[in-house]
Amino acid sequence: MSQILDAAWAERWLRLSAAVIAENRMALIELDRAIGDGDHGENMDRGFSAILEKLDAEPPATPGAAFKLAAMTLMSKVGGAAGPLYGTAFLRAGTAVGDATELDGSILAEALAAARDGVVARGKAEVGDKTMIDAWSPAVDAAAAAVASGADPMAVLEAAATAAEAGALSTDPLIAHKGRASYLGERAIGHRDPGAASSALILRAAVHAAQDAA
Ligand code: ADP
Ligand code: MG
Repeated sequence: MSQILDAAWAERWLRLSAAVIAENRMALIELDRAIGDGDHGENMDRGFSAILEKLDAEPPATPGAAFKLAAMTLMSKVGGAAGPLYGTAFLRAGTAVGDATELDGSILAEALAAARDGVVARGKAEVGDKTMIDAWSPAVDAAAAAVASGADPMAVLEAAATAAEAGALSTDPLIAHKGRASYLGERAIGHRDPGAASSALILRAAVHAAQDAA
């Protein structure tokens, strides 16, 4: 029962994402201060706080509706580079899952791939450019591999989150080729990309949402 990826799960995911982003607001600000302009934690916290208000006003009926609610809110509230990128990610995920009331592992993996592809279409980053793609791309690959090996949806989520965390860590030694951090050249070395860090937090929240029985 706790592993059913339905509208209630999607809503828990967004609520837990809001909580973990709020908890890590300062940490994300500090990562962005080191290699950007220091607003990532604040931007994301503002966006996810607005998502909480919308969820309170009108709980989504399907996972796709939850993702679209998140997309619209993040696009209008987050600003910066990350707002449109996360907005596109959630919008593409929402389109990928359509009206499904429950997601199985393979739709879930497709939704993650669609989200990643949307970020790439918009931001043109490749793996190794020190962006959120360094978290999303390994997550997508791990999810697809988990589906291929017959994993259940929970294990697909777990694989994605674990790969995203490793992907975020992998940005530490990189020079950035996209976004504000790219202006720093070698001075970006030794700092984690803030968008990769927030992406890993959000994907881990999806696992926690599936562990919490409604
Ligand atoms: P801004 O850079 O406008 O201040 P944020 O600080 O909110 O926006 O977000 C910065 C994050 O956005 C970066 O850490 C990186 O992960 C992500 N990002 C920036 N540009 C791109 C891009 N072209 N493709 C993918 N992700 C990007
Ligand atoms: Mg910034």
